[in-house]
Amino acid sequence: MMNPPELFARIYTRHGHRCPMSTLGGRLGLAAMKWLGDSAGELQAVYGNRTCAMDGIAEATGCSEEAGTLVVKSDGRHALFLQSSQASIEVELTAEALEMACRYRSLCNRLESGWDGLEAEEQARRRTEMEAMLDELLPQFWQAEDRTLVKKKVLSF
Ligand SMILES: [Zn+2]
Repeated sequence: MMNPPELFARIYTRHGHRCPMSTLGGRLGLAAMKWLGDSAGELQAVYGNRTCAMDGIAEATGCSEEAGTLVVKSDGRHALFLQSSQASIEVELTAEALEMACRYRSLCNRLESGWDGLEAEEQARRRTEMEAMLDELLPQFWQAEDRTLVKKKVLSF
């Protein structure tokens, strides 16, 4: 198993588990920070969905709900709006990124069905299977090019 790059290690610590959406939130935050460029002053972030991605975004941008600089709009889009005093940008997960995350989610749904009725040994076997899928999937998210995972829309300069 590969060790996560430093940012993603911090995301998983903050988030409490490894998962595709917290990882993709990190990629969204990173891409938005890069495309926004150097900016003075406080950043303000808005995300369209309350998902695991929030922790990734928080860790990558420094914005947080506690500080009031990260808010959820709940419009169902996997899009992050990030604004500095000089510029703003919107980045959104691509269909490909969401499909990759969804494949993992469906596997989990299948493996977790009837969980409480399973023998401990079977639960352990299934957990190992889910972990193995993450070991394969997460490095792809760490390494993919921005354009594979993220669409950008420059809103204003
Ligand atoms: Zn998660």
